[in-house]
Amino acid sequence: MIEIDQLYPQLQEPRKIVITTHQKPDPDAMGSSLGLYHFLINIGHEVQVISPTNWAAFLDWMPGCDKVLDFESQTAKAVKYINVADWIFCLDFNALNRTKKLSTYLEGSTAKKILIDHHREPQTDAFTWGISDIQKSSTCEMVYDFICNSGYQHLINDPIMKCLYAGVMGDTGSFRYSSATAGVHDMIASFKRNGLQHTEIHELIYDNYLENRYRFIGHILTHRLEVDYQLNTALIWVTKQDLLKYHIKTGDTEGLVNYPLGIQGIKLAALLIDRDEKRKWSFRSKGEFDCNTFARRHFNGGGHFNAAGGESDDSLEQNLKQFKSALKEYATQLSSY
Ligand code: 5GP
Ligand code: MN
Repeated sequence: MIEIDQLYPQLQEPRKIVITTHQKPDPDAMGSSLGLYHFLINIGHEVQVISPTNWAAFLDWMPGCDKVLDFESQTAKAVKYINVADWIFCLDFNALNRTKKLSTYLEGSTAKKILIDHHREPQTDAFTWGISDIQKSSTCEMVYDFICNSGYQHLINDPIMKCLYAGVMGDTGSFRYSSATAGVHDMIASFKRNGLQHTEIHELIYDNYLENRYRFIGHILTHRLEVDYQLNTALIWVTKQDLLKYHIKTGDTEGLVNYPLGIQGIKLAALLIDRDEKRKWSFRSKGEFDCNTFARRHFNGGGHFNAAGGESDDSLEQNLKQFKSALKEYATQLSSY
């Protein structure tokens, strides 16, 4: 993978560009894709954003979101763009399999692939150019750096600021995690000086749920939470029936894994959801527990040190058993907090 700086001189020549991100995009994935989209169209490229799957309704307000293609429901149209693309930007994921069915088309495409990402252990051989930096708070911060370092900082406009702010906010837990560095605050300060209305973005993302989502959370925290004070670990799970009963849609379970992390002493929180054809895990930790390695070793996943995910074809019950038995290996570490 060639350093992304090498790409800057080539940005002047208009190209056909596809931007994609990981399945079920979160604010960082969608925000970085659309922030980059607005920048690239401003400098004269033809750009199409393709999401591997559908996304949460709380992202629909993002400028340009109405033009994003959902690969699962608009496959033929999306494939046309992939087939003629000169470049494909891959944002906020480290391995092609994070794009589900789209991955086959990405592998088969002759377009140059460009990675911008902050997850651990990237599949660098799949990309021509790129940057992977686990120190970065978010891919949105990296897109900001990309625009500034390529000499186009003056082109950062309101749509770009809104999209990039949303992603940094999402991935830093609203500027709470240690990844919210001075550099991140400098970026936001520059946005504020340029007129960004930030409270609006918090409301659009976090105060835009329907009542059913809170009833659902009440149900889950009452009936599907197990706390192991010995191992300072909390486990929550969501059955297919729970999803149906409360009319849960993509995005409604976002943030659910963080609730048990607020319990005094809890250092590791795990959430298992019986979603579609797979069982999907989310892991969050405080301090020294390495969620990335845990997710990779036990649940075919990965991510960051303190936040990772995984997936499995096994049943919900089998997964819960596997989790509890895997935890035993870490008992010394977890009980010593
Ligand atoms: P979440 O729990 O919010 O779905 O994901 C937490 C972090 O782990 C995110 O940065 C996400 O991109 C990553 N992640 C989630 N699921 C998977 C997975 O199945 N495989 C890999 N490699 N990363 C994942
Ligand atoms: Mn991210």
